[in-house]
Amino acid sequence: MRLPWRVLAPHTAPVRRASSVPAGLMNFVPACSTTDAHSLELLQDFVTRARRLFVITGAGLSTESGIPDYRSEGVGLYARTDRRPMQYAEFVRSAKSRQRYWARNFVGWPQFSSHQPNSAHKALQRWEDRGKLHWLVTQNVDALHSKAGQKRLTELHGCAHRVTCLGCGAISAREELQRRFISLNPEWRAQAGAVAPDGDVFLEDEQVLHFRVPSCDDCGGILKPEVTFFGDSVNKATVQFVHERLAESDAVLVVGSSLQVYSGYRFLLAARDREMPVAILNIGPTRADHLAELKVSGRCGEVLSVIQPL
Ligand SMILES: [Zn+2]
Repeated sequence: MRLPWRVLAPHTAPVRRASSVPAGLMNFVPACSTTDAHSLELLQDFVTRARRLFVITGAGLSTESGIPDYRSEGVGLYARTDRRPMQYAEFVRSAKSRQRYWARNFVGWPQFSSHQPNSAHKALQRWEDRGKLHWLVTQNVDALHSKAGQKRLTELHGCAHRVTCLGCGAISAREELQRRFISLNPEWRAQAGAVAPDGDVFLEDEQVLHFRVPSCDDCGGILKPEVTFFGDSVNKATVQFVHERLAESDAVLVVGSSLQVYSGYRFLLAARDREMPVAILNIGPTRADHLAELKVSGRCGEVLSVIQPL
């Protein structure tokens, strides 16, 4: 189902053309009126009552940092072709697909990696410092929580700032791979397509053909971003770990996620089974609205920065 406010999401046709999108971060934040004072009071009360808060965040949190919401399963900004997200099986099977994927990813990386945490990320980090937040699970792969200094954090769908080798499992920094791309493709970069305001990258087939992709230094294996692609499943041990953190918590707050994807939604089902109170802060409806005692519509940064971790 396409929700009405999703028309602002960059994956829809009208805003794909660079010229139609004015520059500015708020492009990616769905239209929303200011949150009313009563809702803020109720949310403050919810947070005050919680002693060990379990927080789940999603793409709605990062739109305020200028990262578009693709509402896609942990695949982040670049894990897709022009028409659909990159599928795990296709990435593994097709050297051509990997070449296109990495070429686009290479061009977009300087912009994508430069995004900074916003007031919502910073507020949640303060809540951790104050002992209010027991655990934070994010479905985002943009590293903005860790950039904000969040420690009690699980990146459910991995992180685009890390690269994994499908052969030996070695994990390396995406930044290091960028240096390898540059040294392997010294002439290539100058001819590459521009980055659109929504962070998307457009490349001609001819350009992609000449892009050289390195393999693992140690074993020669395929390098893949350490993020969950479509058709890939979240690590079982990670899911178990998060369930354990949930069991230690006494309330659940969802921030900036419509919870359309099961990998996040399952924790709301577990919270229901444990009869834990649930509050949701999001613009637009979510899959878990019926499980929440409180639903607040508003921009994450605006709302969280006025809620005190009392
Ligand atoms: Zn390897």
